[in-house]
Amino acid sequence: MTNIILLGPPGAGKGTQAKRLVDERGMVQLSTGDMLREAQTSGTEMGKRVAEVMNRGDLVTDEIVIGLIREKLDNPSGGGFIFDGFPRTLKQADALGALLAQTGQSLDAVIEMQVDDAALVARITGRFTCGNCGEVYHDVTRPTKVAGTCDVCGSTKLKRRADDNEESLKTRLMEYYKKTSPLIGYYYAKGQLSTVDGLAEMDEVAGAIAKVLDKS
Ligand code: AMP
Repeated sequence: MTNIILLGPPGAGKGTQAKRLVDERGMVQLSTGDMLREAQTSGTEMGKRVAEVMNRGDLVTDEIVIGLIREKLDNPSGGGFIFDGFPRTLKQADALGALLAQTGQSLDAVIEMQVDDAALVARITGRFTCGNCGEVYHDVTRPTKVAGTCDVCGSTKLKRRADDNEESLKTRLMEYYKKTSPLIGYYYAKGQLSTVDGLAEMDEVAGAIAKVLDKS
């Protein structure tokens, strides 16, 4: 069983690569962003509380996201977990280490997906997904074959995230550099960090990630 973190700025391709690992290796994706968006859609109290913070591009509190992850780790997955968008602060990283230790699990690799900032704006502002199966598309680089219809499942429920706009992205990038990028040094010092070029072709990125996984 291999548990990994995908680390990188918004738009680095963490979600896309996580979905491949789910399909190809039977791993379980734990995306705190997806969990928070689900809480919004289902209209829970917590979902309502975080909506404005998320739309602005700020981080929600450590307590909320650590609570979401704690629930999931109680049921270890045979295929291993992919932490996608978590941890995002040093406090979350410490909490993840403690939670894994408490449940007899380990963290096997942290993969930093490196992408330069100029590419992120273009990637994020064209992004849309299928509301049914979660497939990720892009207006320019990966449009659907038939406009308005998902290539994979045929659904017409295509949607854009409320925070995938230039204004929110500025805040999300600032949050990343202020609060999340210190995790690169944190995991490097622990001897757990590997780096892949997130700007390479999708298959090449997947290959580089597979190499890290097969070594760990
Ligand atoms: P993502 O889907 O990972 O880009 O996350 C979308 C938004 O959810 C972020 O901009 C934050 O507002 C919130 N969020 C997701 N994961 C975390 C986290 N680990 N810590 C704090 N906020 C988070």
